[in-house]
Amino acid sequence: MNCQDARRFLPAYVDGELAGLDRSEIEAHGASCTSCRAELHALSEYKLALRAALAAPPAPAHLRTRVRAEIASTRRQGRGASFWTARIGVPLLAAAAAALVVVWPRAPRPLFVEQARQDHRRDLPVDVSGPDPTRVANWLQPRVPFHVVPPVMGKAQLLGARLHRMEGHDGALLVYDLPDDQARSHKVSVFVFDPQGQDPGSELRDRKRVGAREVYLERRGGYRSAMFQDDGLGYVVTTDVDEDRLLRLVGGR
Ligand SMILES: [Zn+2]
Repeated sequence: MNCQDARRFLPAYVDGELAGLDRSEIEAHGASCTSCRAELHALSEYKLALRAALAAPPAPAHLRTRVRAEIASTRRQGRGASFWTARIGVPLLAAAAAALVVVWPRAPRPLFVEQARQDHRRDLPVDVSGPDPTRVANWLQPRVPFHVVPPVMGKAQLLGARLHRMEGHDGALLVYDLPDDQARSHKVSVFVFDPQGQDPGSELRDRKRVGAREVYLERRGGYRSAMFQDDGLGYVVTTDVDEDRLLRLVGGR
């Protein structure tokens, strides 16, 4: 199995939908490939967070009472097996236990940057078009709870912006186009948000100083993100150029 195949199967693997040969093949690949392993961690953490966010509301009181009564009566009748094994059966319990086993070693996984990368890859429409930063700022002004000034990103041209939300933070997603020396264009996504006293970038180990800014860096699956704070706001810049160019963008050059 190569990386391309592994990436295709990762979502199903994380959801526990793979069995037999597929499962062992992907595990064998993961054992020897650090980049797919990192991808797997990002994906599983992302899904866990999603699941937690979408967690089912508690069962209604009458249902809980009935289940409790059922458990008590099963115990009284002394059927030997516990309520759970009697009702669900051993194979399902074994499967549930197996799902808890972490197959690959844990690696640090910055959730915020992972979402930034996924949002960057989706072609989300803009609510307001560029390239005039004042026009974009004026459109955002009444819609975002803080004042967003589209940052100058070197030679990158502002294409537009949209209202956006990441990891519980409301903000604006700005999209730029950066041409390279071969006249190829690179999309640059900039999420501007109120960090509310948190520092999402502190999850990242790699950091560099750009001018007066402390910039946190993360590279993942062909994309790089830079995270920094400026004047009380948080910025996450995601694109597919090399680190030098990214740092120049962040430095406004
Ligand atoms: Zn791989």
